[in-house]
Amino acid sequence: MNASRYQRNQHVDLDALQKAVLDYVHERVVLSPPLDGPLSEEELRSIVGRTITTQGVGPVEAMRVFAEDLAPACLSADHPRYLSFIPCAPSDAAVMFDLVVGASTIYAGSWLEGAGAVYAENEALRWIADLVGMPASAGGVFVPGGTIGNLSALVAARHTARENAPAGVRPNKVAATFGAHSSIKSACEVMDADFVGVATDEHGRMSGEALRAVLAESPGEFFCVVATSGTTNFGIVDNLAVVAQVCREFGVWFHVDGAYGGAGLAAPSVRHLYAGIEECDSFIVDPHKWLFAPYDCCALLYRRPELARAAHTQRAGYLDVLTDAPEWNPADYSVGLSRRARGLPLWFSLVVNGTDAYTAALEQTLEVAAYAEAEVARRPEFELVRGRDLTVIVFRRLGWAAADYHAWSDKVMEEEFAFVVPTTHDGETLARFAIVNPMTTLEDIAGILDSMAAFAPAHA
Ligand SMILES: *Cc1c(COP(=O)(O)O)cnc(C)c1O
Repeated sequence: MNASRYQRNQHVDLDALQKAVLDYVHERVVLSPPLDGPLSEEELRSIVGRTITTQGVGPVEAMRVFAEDLAPACLSADHPRYLSFIPCAPSDAAVMFDLVVGASTIYAGSWLEGAGAVYAENEALRWIADLVGMPASAGGVFVPGGTIGNLSALVAARHTARENAPAGVRPNKVAATFGAHSSIKSACEVMDADFVGVATDEHGRMSGEALRAVLAESPGEFFCVVATSGTTNFGIVDNLAVVAQVCREFGVWFHVDGAYGGAGLAAPSVRHLYAGIEECDSFIVDPHKWLFAPYDCCALLYRRPELARAAHTQRAGYLDVLTDAPEWNPADYSVGLSRRARGLPLWFSLVVNGTDAYTAALEQTLEVAAYAEAEVARRPEFELVRGRDLTVIVFRRLGWAAADYHAWSDKVMEEEFAFVVPTTHDGETLARFAIVNPMTTLEDIAGILDSMAAFAPAHA
């Protein structure tokens, strides 16, 4: 590597560049993250102005602009009191190794170009496949997120169903609960497939009877059933054994969306909730959600990867050297071609910390979630909406209207105390905690509940 060539060409002081970047990283990783918060575009315009100039401003000034003006206008998803959506709490090892991935310029779409990286990514995929209970032949690829993971699995499922369908039959329907993630409907839009909602039982889980009825109504037309192992809004795990059984009866591809909740497979205290998952044809989990990896990272696994390969391999004369090779080319298993070795931060962190540390960190978040649930049940100002499966808690602040939830949430974000936005369910605005950060403490939870209990609505 001839670094000085770049240095000369770009008139950039490499030492200053390194120092500016690494000093910032050191501070960001070592110190507890500030919550920070958004500014309007006008505010950013007036503070930051135009940043790109003909001559460049050099690394020190560019880092100053980011560190002082831009970064503070971004919420830190790893802040311990960031409980909205699904947070992201990467391990130090994973964050640091992300820098190494960036510095290494590895094309990780093919074995030819990225063999060592692909080998390591496949080790991490194997760890996940073993948690699921998939056979030795299982395999897949790390994609940017659950949305692309779900889309890629659905494309493989439809391709397979159409290959096997009688002449003239083109299966085009997907069955999932209405609590399934919005990305399933989005994938159906992209694929011009039909989403068919399946009713849930009294626990919010996909009902086996309802699924059977839906599939029986349109024989041969379904190419996939999507079960969710941890819905985003409530953390509900579908009854996977029942869904697997119905999929077997109808010969339909069984996909499990574990983008958030799939991580719980590594937590012995909740592993029983996933019984039946080992029968899935495909599975996703986002390590950037509850498996302590940085954005953006989704593990996509297939029981029979050759089916996905048949659906996804791109063919072109200049790719023949890759597609004709027998080795594992990650790009053959998803939508997309060029790819960052985005599974490597997870892999490195697993190697550094060992898988027991993952189990311990997951159990830690489950304990904090159990505490949050118990506190909500115990305190008179609150009411649980439903019992928790994993680490999402949804509850009412008694006496609050929708505007109060928003006013409190805005206030604590502006104070940089916490980021806890409300959710809605059946038209009702509700409070919701998603706990995936091992740094979130019982005191953090108690402090947030105290703040909600003390908050006086303006209209009262
Ligand atoms: C977050 C989530 C997704 C989408 O994942 P992205 O990484 O945001 O694309 C899909 N399914 C479930 C259950 C999720 O929680």
